[in-house]
Formats: sequence, C-alpha cells, structure tokens
Amino acid sequence: MDALPAGLGADAPIFDPAAFRLTGQEAALAARARAFGQAVLAPRAARWDREASFPTDNYRDMHGNGLLGICIPEDEGGLGAGFRAYCLTAAEMGRYCGATALTWNMHVCSTLWTGALTEDLDMEPAVRAEHRARRQRHYDRILRDGAVYSQPFSEGGAAAAGGVAFGTTAKRVPGGFLINGKKIFASLAGHADFYGVLCTEVREGDEKPSRRDTLYLAIPKDAPGVTVEGEWDPLGMRGTVSRNLVFRDVFVEEDAALMPPGLYFQAALRWPHMFMTLSPTYMGLAQAAYDFTVKYLRGEWPGMPPVKRRMYPTKQIAVAEMRVMLEQTKALWFQAITDARPDPSKEQVLRAWAAQHTVMENAAALAAKAVRTCGGQSMLKSLPLERIYRDARCGSLMLPWTAELCIDRLGREALYEKGETDD
Ligand SMILES: Cc1cc2nc3c(=O)[nH]c(=O)nc-3n(C[C@H](O)[C@H](O)[C@H](O)COP(=O)(O)OP(=O)(O)OC[C@H]3O[C@@H](n4cnc5c(N)ncnc54)[C@H](O)[C@@H]3O)c2cc1C
Repeated sequence: MDALPAGLGADAPIFDPAAFRLTGQEAALAARARAFGQAVLAPRAARWDREASFPTDNYRDMHGNGLLGICIPEDEGGLGAGFRAYCLTAAEMGRYCGATALTWNMHVCSTLWTGALTEDLDMEPAVRAEHRARRQRHYDRILRDGAVYSQPFSEGGAAAAGGVAFGTTAKRVPGGFLINGKKIFASLAGHADFYGVLCTEVREGDEKPSRRDTLYLAIPKDAPGVTVEGEWDPLGMRGTVSRNLVFRDVFVEEDAALMPPGLYFQAALRWPHMFMTLSPTYMGLAQAAYDFTVKYLRGEWPGMPPVKRRMYPTKQIAVAEMRVMLEQTKALWFQAITDARPDPSKEQVLRAWAAQHTVMENAAALAAKAVRTCGGQSMLKSLPLERIYRDARCGSLMLPWTAELCIDRLGREALYEKGETDD
C-alpha cells in the first residue's frame, strides 16, 4: 500500500463497489490505482505540467506495481483486466494526474486491443495461434523490461476520425515492412519504447489505399529512420509530450504486427467502444474538480489556511449543481462502459457517443465551475485546480470521438436507419 502524505485521509472510490455492484477484480484494481494515484501521482503532477516533461518516474513505479500489464491476460502474466475494469481503474488514475492517465491509456490499448478485444473477433484458428504467439513477445517486453508502448494514429487529416485510410504506409519487403509517413500529436514521443502505429498496407497496382488494409505495427523507438520533431508547449496535458513522429523508410520485421492484417478494421466496426478508452481520464478529472471544490469550501485543502467558505448560499447552490452534473456524468458513463461488447446494438452505440460527449464536455464544465466557485486563490498554480482546468479542456478534442463528432454521428444515426436517404 502506498503511504499518503501526513494529514491526508484516503479518498473514497469514484464508483462505490457495493452501490455500482463492481466485481471483486474491478474494486481491487480501482483501489490499487486510487492509493497509488493519491500517494504517488498527485504529489508529482505539478512538475510534469510545469516542465511539459514526460512522467518517466511514474512509469517506472507503474512497472513495479503491475499497472503496465493491467490488460495483459492473467494466463499470459498480466492482471487480466477487461474493458470495464480498465476504465474504472483509469478513472482513478486520471483523478490524480491527467497526463499520466492519458498516456497510460495509449500504452494499455496496445494490450487491451490485442488481448481481451481480439478474443471476441473472428480469426482462422491458425491466424489466432500466430497472433497469440506474437503478442506474447510484446507482453513479455512490458512485463519483464517495463517496455512502454504509445499509440500514434493522428495525421492531421480525416484518417484519425475514421473517414479515410491512414496516410502512413507499410510496404511488404523481404522479412517485414517498410514504413513511411508522419504522425502528429504522438503522445509519449521520444519516451515510449515502441510506437504502436496504425498505417495502411499498400501494394503495387492498388488503385487507392483502403481502410480494410490498416495494419497495427510496433515500431522500436530507435529504429533507423524514426525521428521526433516539433515543439510541445500546449495549454493542457503538458506531460503527454505529444510531438510529431516521422518515419522515413523504417524497416520492421513481420513480428512487429500487433494484430493480423484486417483485424483492426474488424475491431473498429464490431467493437466501437474501443474508442471510448480516452474518456476515463476525463471522468477522473471531473471527480477531481468536484473533490477539490468540496475540500476547499470546507477549509480543508492541505497547506491552505483553514478558511471556510461553505456558509454562503451561492456556494452551496454551485456545489449542488456540480453534484448533479457529476452524478449524471457518472451514471451515463458507467452504463456505457457496462454496455461495451462485440456487435453492440444501435442503442448501445448511441449511448456510447452520448457518454463520451458528456464526460469530455462535463469535465471541462465542472472544472470551470470549480474555479468560479472557489474563487481567486483557487486558480493559483500552487493548487491543482488550475491544472485540472487546463487538462480538462483537452478531452473534447480527442479523435476519433471528439465532442463534435459524437454530436454529428448521434444526430445522423438517430434520424436515419441503415441505407435510408431522402431522395
Ligand atoms: C493532449 C493531447 C494528446 C493527444 N495524444 C494523441 C496520441 O497519443 N495519438 C494520437 O493519435 N492522437 C493524439 N492526439 C490528437 C487528437 O486525437 C486529435 O487528432 C487532434 O487533436 C486533432 O487536431 P487537429 O488540429 O488536426 O484537429 P482536426 O482534425 O482538424 O479536427 C478539428 C475538429 O474538427 C472536427 N472534425 C475532424 N474531422 C472531422 C470529420 N471527418 N467530420 C466532422 N468533423 C470533423 C472534430 O470535432 C475536431 O475536434 C492528442 C491530442 C491532444 C490534445
């Protein structure tokens, strides 16, 4: 158990295990993340933010406490968390350090997408056997060496939103692939050991690249032809170090494949909740904004004079409104992460978009309301609320399910059944 700084009581769970009927595994993993977050992540978070530096120390400790392998199946050496268990655990991490939780998500997806998710997808037995053997190499690196994976797919065009094929290409050559292209906003750039790149396999004679030919390949950080470019000095989520990655004739072996050809395309169609994994960080930030407000108005924030502000009716109304928004956010999000499965119904997909939109927009709204309610001193950089406020503003921008795109799809899909047009 990680020790808390003197005078600090342990935080209550975001999702009470009895009230939300969590499994024993979910409750235990969330408790592990909460204890670690409060004792280890929270005291360090201001530093990564101030320096816009990567939280390397956190990753070393997450290797030590097993969290790097949270979604690696138990019989392959990991903690065996499924989608919902991961989401609940990640929300507790996001509560204490947004940048660590968000980058950890990129890493975890390289194991969740290749692990639990692929069990639900169709593969020929021989392909599945080869996939399992390959992923074990990646999992061993993570469990044994503490290897960290990232997930660069954004390119600045319509590909990351799922509209067209990725512009980064992979061409088959003897023994493997040659990769060319550029990724923007590549969190963990320069810090991950492997970049889990989504790219399009192109062949001689192909008329036009197809999303069906998406490959998911792990490119070693030091492979010849890989460069990290550009500055990173953003508004929020500063510790993610999301610089540009450029690949010029980068060779990777066949075994670099994190998924067999065609499987990512199948996953994106049949397991759409896979794109919700960026939301837990922001669920945690929403809770953090609320927690801060209550402690601050009660005059209980550590290191601050014990001045109470809770007796003003306007503050009470603001906290009540924040609580309503937080409960709405939690309830919808919990239902959506519970819905996650292969081939969800249309209702479940609409709810997933509604939940993603709600978490991302409400995290920012709750943080803004917290600053307004707590007042001037609360936005000093010596307190975490100012960072929570800036980090929370980034959630709505995360492709492929940005807040705008969720609204766009919800409106269209609610009004049109498959194949319907107005002609
Ligand atoms: C802190 C942070 C960390 C990130 N980390 C990663 C990472 O690790 N890996 C990664 O791949 N990406 C990452 N991203 C990138 C992110 O997912 C987006 O790709 C990026 O913010 C897009 O920026 P853009 O200026 O290209 O926006 P645009 O793509 O121009 O989008 C701007 C807005 O237009 C809308 N839009 C975009 N495409 C469409 C469309 N086809 N139809 C309708 N509306 C559309 C969306 O609502 C979007 O918000 C990160 C972003 C941030 C802020």
